[in-house]
Amino acid sequence: MANLEALYQEVILDHNRKPRNFREMENADRVVHGKNPLCGDEIKLFVKFDGDRIEDLSFQSPPGVGCAISKASASLMTAALKGKDRAEAQQTYDRFHDMITGKLPDGERAAMGSLASLGGVSKFPVRVKCASLAWHALKSALEQGPEVITTDFEGPPQTEGA
Ligand code: ZN
Repeated sequence: MANLEALYQEVILDHNRKPRNFREMENADRVVHGKNPLCGDEIKLFVKFDGDRIEDLSFQSPPGVGCAISKASASLMTAALKGKDRAEAQQTYDRFHDMITGKLPDGERAAMGSLASLGGVSKFPVRVKCASLAWHALKSALEQGPEVITTDFEGPPQTEGA
């Protein structure tokens, strides 16, 4: 599986270097500001709905702010969910969350497409909040939740390397 992990690593580096949908959106229906104080990550997620469908999805983070994982995750998420409806987005959120918290069966990881590249963070509890930042912002947008959110959720205990 070493080659596959190397490929996943390559996907993360690529999305960090050239984030997709990395732009402000003038006519967004929802703007959610997400912060992960543990790492210093910060993103602004822009969502435009067309009825039940996510018509457009983009994000921004201040220059020099945010780690590779948080940025790659936001980039991969926007690419995966643009054009999807709310139910599909929620379903992908649930599966992604299971994957990064180590609850998704190994055999199902590959079916996550390019999102599978972030599955490895389940071994690094501190990185789970980085990977989930954009996704929590999206969930808040879908649920009309608060416009500023902080990643703080029930995850594995914060013991690195355990
Ligand atoms: Zn981070």
